[in-house]
Amino acid sequence: MNKYLKQLVQLSTIDQEIDDFGPRIEKIERALNGAQDAKNEAQAKMDELAAQTKEARLKKSQHELHLAELSDKIKDIAKKVGAIKSEKEQKALQLEEEICKEQCDFSNEEINRLDKIIDSKNSYVEEANAQLEEAAQKVEEAQTAIASAMESIDKERADVYAKKEQLVGEMSQKILTFYEKIRKWAKNTAVVPVRKQACYGCFMRVNDKTYAAVLKSEDIVTCPHCGRILYKEAETAQV
Ligand SMILES: [Zn+2]
Repeated sequence: MNKYLKQLVQLSTIDQEIDDFGPRIEKIERALNGAQDAKNEAQAKMDELAAQTKEARLKKSQHELHLAELSDKIKDIAKKVGAIKSEKEQKALQLEEEICKEQCDFSNEEINRLDKIIDSKNSYVEEANAQLEEAAQKVEEAQTAIASAMESIDKERADVYAKKEQLVGEMSQKILTFYEKIRKWAKNTAVVPVRKQACYGCFMRVNDKTYAAVLKSEDIVTCPHCGRILYKEAETAQV
């Protein structure tokens, strides 16, 4: 293969590797974000359970306070009964006592109901806490994985850049400019193989003359349809 063409194929491969680093990093970051989202969700569930339990406890304590007040009131009524002077007064006290007792019943029922809510929330808390711990563990694992993956990507990237620098140093400026001009629009497909007599950039069939020139690999040949640089793959790389 023509030396310049060989360099172009190498350069194109290196540029593809460089461009691949971005998506690789994004993929790793997506994994971490996913773990982080799951952890936030588990934390939100825990917070909600805690808020619901707190609200139920607050209501319960209000009812308990009310019960204490009612109990005092009932004692007062009992004292007043001894000093009753008229039937009207007696009826009024009786009514007051009944209302107090009804309120006591209501508060007791409410306390029962709230206790059940608190119990059920407590049983969920254990489960939610286990989920939160698991999610936190996954975040830690993802962070560790990211650190080591980033380390190896950084190393690979340094190697690839060094490889590119060396190659570019060996290449002719004219060829480089020609390549960069095509790369501007063709991006990572500036240099493409010919397979089954078709350009693997635009996938159009190339004419026999161009195909013969590509097979010879003596000159730098471009696709007559799209202008990409064409090359013949080594036998082992043929698909
Ligand atoms: Zn083409």
